[in-house]
Amino acid sequence: MEVCTIGGFEQVGKNMTAVKIKDDVIIFDAGIYLPAIIEIQEEEAHEHIYNEKSLRRIGALPDDLVLDKYGWTSKVKAIVIGHAHLDHLGALPYLAHRYPQAEIIATPFTMAVLDEILEGEKIILKNRKRIIKEDSTYVLNGSSGQIKMEFVHTTHSTLQCVFIAMHTSEGTFFYALDFKFDNYPVIGDPPRYNKLRELGRRGIKILVLDALYSGAERRTPSERIARNLVEDAMSSVRDRKAAMIVTTFSSHISRLKSIVDFGKKTGRQIIFIGRSLNKYVTAAVKVGQCPFKKEIIMMKYRKQVDAFLKKVEKDRGRYLLVCTGHQAEPGSILDRIVKDETPLKLREGDNIIFCSSVIPDPVNINARDRMDKRLRKKGVRIQTDVHVSGHGAREDMRDLVILLKPKHIIPAHGTLQQETPLIELAGEMGYKFGETSHLSSNGKVLKFD
Ligand SMILES: [Zn+2]
Repeated sequence: MEVCTIGGFEQVGKNMTAVKIKDDVIIFDAGIYLPAIIEIQEEEAHEHIYNEKSLRRIGALPDDLVLDKYGWTSKVKAIVIGHAHLDHLGALPYLAHRYPQAEIIATPFTMAVLDEILEGEKIILKNRKRIIKEDSTYVLNGSSGQIKMEFVHTTHSTLQCVFIAMHTSEGTFFYALDFKFDNYPVIGDPPRYNKLRELGRRGIKILVLDALYSGAERRTPSERIARNLVEDAMSSVRDRKAAMIVTTFSSHISRLKSIVDFGKKTGRQIIFIGRSLNKYVTAAVKVGQCPFKKEIIMMKYRKQVDAFLKKVEKDRGRYLLVCTGHQAEPGSILDRIVKDETPLKLREGDNIIFCSSVIPDPVNINARDRMDKRLRKKGVRIQTDVHVSGHGAREDMRDLVILLKPKHIIPAHGTLQQETPLIELAGEMGYKFGETSHLSSNGKVLKFD
């Protein structure tokens, strides 16, 4: 078995890994590097149509051209997407045409999000699409034998996220991006500990693991804690004449549910504004996973949004605005409101709640600094970090390793700095660096007997 760590092994983003078993190659994830093209997700103002060439030029795509060099490209039988975040899915629309013989495999929600993106970007893929439900199995007939894929439900920060266990004639490969062990999720079930234990008993050869917060000595708290934070933050806004804006990750349907649940208690009408919110909520509705659909009004077109914000300006206490732009992305709704580019002019006593934390990348940090300065000048009340991460920390990782007992561990989803603490943890658990725990880099191939 050979593993090519294509992308996401030197940065947070553009996750992509390929596994070769004899003459068959399976790709896991095809994500985009968001800081390079932050506006693809959030841009409301312009209708950018991106293409493979321009995205490659700015380093937004994983460099899967290495597969040509290794002679793997024509052997790719499937591209499996673990969940619907853009750093796992966002490059697929631009890369899939390179693998026309490969089918795209994902859960219903992930596939629905892909379809929304393809529609928005006006891209047609010829690849066959196969929808696999959580906790089910799919057998792929490879040229050198059967490959059995098990999709195991896990908890993270969007809907229908799965671990993938791939059973082959050369052993079992386990792909664990992204996850945290959340025993009290707001939507969906807790993780399948028994299933993971059973897989561990049957034997795992290689574990590729989300190491992003392996340096944090804790478990990541449950989304239930975030729900309490949201309740507390929203209930503190008492001025019925002030504007109230909440911003969060568009893909975080559980978080949006909490915002709507406590938003209803404010007596304000709840309006969702922004294209990416629209995409994810539409996908959730399509797969029957949007419990708050009837409680909200969605708006995505600029003209419609601006006309509506004129009404909000005159009667600001009547509405709760849920919008995109939590990273202060240029051109996002929140950015435009803060810069007075819409009819709604924020003033003293208005409220903004950030159900997010700043993604620690200089682009985001600087953008948010500039936004906060503007808000302070206007006297707007800000509540920030009303948020709990969807990525597990060191103790979540320890638990997964105990359950799976893999022979080899490969940290993924970060820079060297973010991946190294997992190597340390593995060392404490008896793994030997260079023998059974491995640091990789983008484009490298690791071989296993
Ligand atoms: Zn994710």
